[in-house]
Amino acid sequence: MNVQPAASHHFVEVAVPLPLPGTLTYGLPVEWRAIVQVGARVQVPVGRRWLTGVVLELHNRPPPAGTEARQVGEVLDSEPVLGPDLLDLASFVSEYYLAPPGEVLRAMLPSRLVSAGGRIVRLTDRGALALARDDTQRFVLEHLLQHATRTVAELVAAARSAGLDGGRLHVAVRSLADEGKVRIDEAADSRRRLESAVEVQAGDLADLLDRCGRSEKGRAVVELLRALGRPASVRELATEVGCGPGVIQRLVQQGVLRRFTQYRPPSLDRHRLGGDAYRPELNADQRASVGALERALEERRYRAFLLEGVTGSGKTEVYLRALEGVLAAGRGAIVMVPEIALVPALAQALRLRLGERLAVLHSGMGESERAHHWQRLARGEALVAVGARSAVFAPVRELALVVVDEEHDPSYKQDRTPRYNARDLALVRAQRSNAIAVLASATPSLEARQLVSRGRSTRLSLPLRVGSSTLPEGVLVDLRRERFVHRPGEVHFSERLCEEIRAALAGGEQVILLRNRRGYAPILLCRACGEDMRCPECGLPRTLHRRPPGLLCHYCGDRIETPRACPRCGEAALEAIGAGTERVEERFRALFPEVAVDVLDRDTTQRVGGAAAVLERFRTGATRVLIGTQMVSKGHHFPQVSLAAVLSADSYLGFPDFRAVERTYSMLVQLAGRAGRGDRPGKVVIQTHYPDHYAVRAALRHDDAAFATEELRFRRAFHYPPFTRVALLVAQDRHRDRAEKRIEEIAARLAESPLSRGVRVGGPAPAPFERLRGKWRFQLVLRSQSGARLRQLLRELGLHEARSDLVVDVDPQDLL
Ligand code: ADP
Ligand code: ZN
Repeated sequence: MNVQPAASHHFVEVAVPLPLPGTLTYGLPVEWRAIVQVGARVQVPVGRRWLTGVVLELHNRPPPAGTEARQVGEVLDSEPVLGPDLLDLASFVSEYYLAPPGEVLRAMLPSRLVSAGGRIVRLTDRGALALARDDTQRFVLEHLLQHATRTVAELVAAARSAGLDGGRLHVAVRSLADEGKVRIDEAADSRRRLESAVEVQAGDLADLLDRCGRSEKGRAVVELLRALGRPASVRELATEVGCGPGVIQRLVQQGVLRRFTQYRPPSLDRHRLGGDAYRPELNADQRASVGALERALEERRYRAFLLEGVTGSGKTEVYLRALEGVLAAGRGAIVMVPEIALVPALAQALRLRLGERLAVLHSGMGESERAHHWQRLARGEALVAVGARSAVFAPVRELALVVVDEEHDPSYKQDRTPRYNARDLALVRAQRSNAIAVLASATPSLEARQLVSRGRSTRLSLPLRVGSSTLPEGVLVDLRRERFVHRPGEVHFSERLCEEIRAALAGGEQVILLRNRRGYAPILLCRACGEDMRCPECGLPRTLHRRPPGLLCHYCGDRIETPRACPRCGEAALEAIGAGTERVEERFRALFPEVAVDVLDRDTTQRVGGAAAVLERFRTGATRVLIGTQMVSKGHHFPQVSLAAVLSADSYLGFPDFRAVERTYSMLVQLAGRAGRGDRPGKVVIQTHYPDHYAVRAALRHDDAAFATEELRFRRAFHYPPFTRVALLVAQDRHRDRAEKRIEEIAARLAESPLSRGVRVGGPAPAPFERLRGKWRFQLVLRSQSGARLRQLLRELGLHEARSDLVVDVDPQDLL
């Protein structure tokens, strides 16, 4: 790969963020030839638009005779935004997942960088007095004296109209920055807003309060500031005390407060919850695991580990120790968790132990904030990246360790192009950086278990919970024996469950209840005519929501108002069938009217305060019961929880998906893992219609080996992963027959290819969700012993994800 600028190259290959299978070739104007490097962003014309792309190659191969390459308009960076390691990873992702290179790069870079109008240049104090060394430098200095800040793009444009050359301008800006005469910031940095803050003037508190006079609010402000022991922003005080800015203004005039402006830093504060920097003594199993990781880190060679520990066994502590070692050596690391909701608590724990050299990256944060963290890593100011799946692309320098916590979680797979699995890429990235990878889980994926049995990964076991705590006692409720009016999807609080809840609450403990469906009820049905309010785009019933009210399609997100009477027959005979989290909450409040309860699901996450607020209330004990979807079962550590219950364990078991059983098992084990983490023993209640199912039985008895044996037997017998590799092709079209024809045509071409020998082809058949977002869907499921062969076959047939009418999903997480 050519990374050096070479004035002799006349063409560049550019990946643009469009669904194209490859790169586009552009001519390079003379002025840019000494500037441009592989990995830099450029502005290029595509059709009638200008797009920002990334240069992947410099060369001298002219386009085929008769065609003419269009010219690069602007080179946005004089240094690569992506180093060779990340460019290399990008090309791997593009090939492996058959994804357009430009879309892969778009997924890797914070969007503020992708669509950047350019970096911002400002004069430093030194620059204001500096002498220019040539015309271009003089131009930059004078221009900045006049305008204070300018983007690079604006400087280039101005330089051009003054008859100077844009390439030289880049060189001049870079050398001025090296000499400390100008500062270059990502656009994101300058978006840190200034805000007004105040602190209490020095002096006697009684005296200061005296000066507040009769203003209650004024006194409250002063007292709060004293209690905080630090300055606070006006915004913060106004919300805490409930006063207007006028009150604070007056206190400043009275000399009680001192006012100043501060940067509102895009700090980690928003990503924190309470906690302290407790550093426990390791137990013997933890010591053995940490020792193995430390030895591997010293070797500076790739190795993979499966850190398999029961819930509450202190897995986090093991990788924290490894991280401490990495930082002490001045090297870098990536730590991933599956859910954005889990990032704050982990970031906080890491920050307390590792200090400020931490960057938080996930798609839920503001774009400028994300770009800021990304830059800190790229510049080496931060060494550890923490985040959800996209953190696998973090520009960490000197990568030594990649941790994938809860590696079994399907959220590591991205469900849109590029359809990468961050767990698998963690291994690839570690391998290419001579780093070590640690996959951690209480319920490892079958893929991770397979790596161990094939000798490609080393198992580190933590078979016991830390301290004196034990795994919770399992209680089975056979729903078939419950006497209640049974309706599909109905949620039932069995007598046994109610008893356990009462006992836990009476003991001053907390309870977690899992119902893996959000909203009020999965169906609103007209009893008179059978109308079930299907989404016309998806062909599936809409879910009834009450907060906020509406009928919501969970597949395309479309919302309509809840009708009072049936829109088809006009009868007022509408009935909510089944229960989601909102209805479970309603039922719970009816059964336990005095108990403080909260709901955690995707809907609450989107409200003000979001998941962090809900979790914080539960952590402090303000709420006693937490009801939620699978989000409640993942990774949290609440020592006061003694009871965890699933209202129905069967929500996945009926799905036509080979991973349904694995999902059920890990959901049950993870849920059980939330109970009894403190001093008192816990219980887990599982309500099910399938009490004899091996997943249910293994989860109840904490018999992980039994589950793995049974499940592997099933996978082997039916040729499913990890014994085969799968690729899923879904043709989708607004017209049913067009989608069907497309998939049949692909099936026919597959059958003809000699490469398809040894490939099992399922279908063509309608997808289990036959219509989504207005498109009919037909699918083919390909399975082969060899993943490489499968991808070769797809490539040979030109099947890549370059068109919206065909989904190509390599290693799909589900087949729906
Ligand atoms: P896991 O991830 O395996 O479910 P955690 O890493 O969350 O478990 O650990 C559970 C709790 O136990 C945490 O609060 C952690 O601080 C604590 N802990 C970990 N190791 C020890 C130890 N050796 N001694 C005492 N407490 C520990
Ligand atoms: Zn829909």
